[in-house]
Amino acid sequence: MKEKEQILKLREELSQHNHSYYVLDKPTITDFEFDVKLKQLQDLEANHPQLFDSTSPTQRVGGEVTKNFQTIKHAQRMYSLDNSYSKEDLMDWEARLHKMVDGPIEFTCELKYDGASISLTYENGVLVQALTRGDGTQGDNVTANIKTIKSVPLKLEGNYPSKFEIRGEIVLPFAGFKALNQEKIAAGEEPYKNPRNTASGSLKLQHSTEVARRPLECLLYSVVGENTGIKTQFDNLEKARSWGFKVPSVAKISDSIESVLEFVNYWDLHRHELPYETDGVVVKVNNLFHQAELGFTAKAPRWAMAYKFKAEQVSTRLEYISYQVGRTGAITPVANLTPVELAGTIVKRASLHNADQIKKLDIRIGDWVYVEKGGEIIPKIIGVDIDHRTQDSEKSIYIINCPECESLLVRKDGEAQHYCPNDMGCPPQIIGRIQHYISRKALDIEGLGGETVALLVNAGLIRNYADLYELTADQIIHLDRMASKSADNLVNGVQASKEVSFERVLFGLGIRYVGETVAKKLAKHYKSIQALSEATLEDLETVDEIGTKIAESVVVFFKNETNIRIVSRLILYGVQLKLSDEVLFNQTVKLQGLRFVVSGVFDSVSRNELKELIDSNGGKVVSSISAKTSFLLAGSNMGPSKRSKANSLKVPIISEQEFLEMLHTPIYSTKN
Ligand code: AMP
Ligand code: ZN
Repeated sequence: MKEKEQILKLREELSQHNHSYYVLDKPTITDFEFDVKLKQLQDLEANHPQLFDSTSPTQRVGGEVTKNFQTIKHAQRMYSLDNSYSKEDLMDWEARLHKMVDGPIEFTCELKYDGASISLTYENGVLVQALTRGDGTQGDNVTANIKTIKSVPLKLEGNYPSKFEIRGEIVLPFAGFKALNQEKIAAGEEPYKNPRNTASGSLKLQHSTEVARRPLECLLYSVVGENTGIKTQFDNLEKARSWGFKVPSVAKISDSIESVLEFVNYWDLHRHELPYETDGVVVKVNNLFHQAELGFTAKAPRWAMAYKFKAEQVSTRLEYISYQVGRTGAITPVANLTPVELAGTIVKRASLHNADQIKKLDIRIGDWVYVEKGGEIIPKIIGVDIDHRTQDSEKSIYIINCPECESLLVRKDGEAQHYCPNDMGCPPQIIGRIQHYISRKALDIEGLGGETVALLVNAGLIRNYADLYELTADQIIHLDRMASKSADNLVNGVQASKEVSFERVLFGLGIRYVGETVAKKLAKHYKSIQALSEATLEDLETVDEIGTKIAESVVVFFKNETNIRIVSRLILYGVQLKLSDEVLFNQTVKLQGLRFVVSGVFDSVSRNELKELIDSNGGKVVSSISAKTSFLLAGSNMGPSKRSKANSLKVPIISEQEFLEMLHTPIYSTKN
């Protein structure tokens, strides 16, 4: 069929032009010619709906409307990066690396593109999914919008793995940003503030046609997935480029931190010559085996480090200081500033952290202060312009009473923060605790948000999180802005939260210093709230990674009558306050007292699974070999010096098979 061939030919041709124009920055035909051909293809496709292809260049114009973006779990978590600001930070990092991997370490230096992170999935060379980073564990499905970005290949070339994910950054180049803003201004509208927010906002637009109109670009930096055949990060970049992705050519391999710093210093000066915004350099351990050895902390890979370019600074006037009360009663002083533009956003407020900080900087009302924006969202005050100070200026006096409930504030020895002790009567604390309880990483109650919690508390319907379980739709419906459907949703969401696992409930209780990780540890160790509430200070301190501060806080929490009553009520309502049978079943003490170093690459189970197995069977995973190590669990490609260290310290080296057999033997005797 002649028209079929014509369609295929046009698709191929237009894809090539797209690639030349948007990825290689080398246009091969004029825009006009392109549009004519695209129109031709659209007409032909309209006549042959049976030849539909989701990767056709005509699909890029958009048309899909997404009302609610679906939330999807990432196959592999999207981490943040650790930050460094000096040569010393980088040297410290390098020293830590050398403790964990053998031999020389090479680095790749890349620019840190400042936009919105994205994770793309390709199957058999076709783009099937695009997710935003979200909270790192799950993101929003923005595939329809991403397809409109011309530098995102819909179909790959060359020799790519059958299935993989690739990560990158959606940016809005300066030129595009400027053009968009000219349109805005011409239309009499408020211009966009900065390219980064505009880029991330664009991803969540409901009309993909609107996204197609925005000159966004997608810059890729990392392929993830098993069996990709890639051995180094630098290779990662080159391979991705060869499959048709836009991968900036500014990247280099360094064999020392000195060489890394040359790259940093060069780009710190020259970054403004780049077509898009960058906020630093990302340094990564080049060898992917090394990366696997190093693994991740709770927040970031150990094998990567962002080096932030020096933050921008401005000076402005401090108008007054206000005070916020957090859910734990902690008081945070806030500087209210004469609005000023800094790094593309208008700054009005800055955190002052605590009374010591105010004293140290001697910050006074009316002062001209220097404000800096580092990696954090909230800018900070780094100093005062004393020369600008007026004669009548007076030292700041910290508040004595809670700004919300008038209680006398307390400050414990050794603590920087002042606290409002009225935890049961101070409104922001009451509301804050419930908001924490329902938050995403805790009970994640669907149909209930932070503002509704405040409404419910202020209406006198709830005073603590246990009260949530007695709410009825009838009560809620009388609240402002509450439709009957949302009232039902709320009640159902509360009921559904009874399925949430013990560790998350424990986190949700909001015991001071018991964050996500600590809650996990405590849940695993004590297995039930009953056992945890009976634990003594000494007992708690024997738990791995639980120090005195946390232990004390747990004991104090369970001594409090009100807390005891609330927790008992939660148990009554059926909230999970012990580990489920399934979790208990998989937990043993077979490896109690054993310390493992896990190194190399494994076949049948992933390294993380191995670590979890060790953990859930009572063993401990440590990162470097010492005389106290019980076993070195070795996969393939382990460094030779690990082996010789294990040998010289007489640490037995076991294979993955031997380890798994260990789990099948009833009790394994301890070495120490
Ligand atoms: P942060 O959000 O400051 O923790 O930085 C982590 C983010 O930097 C990642 O989620 C990426 O989206 C972004 N990023 C930008 N450029 C790169 C790069 N070359 N390599 C890795 N991450 C990058
Ligand atoms: Zn108070």
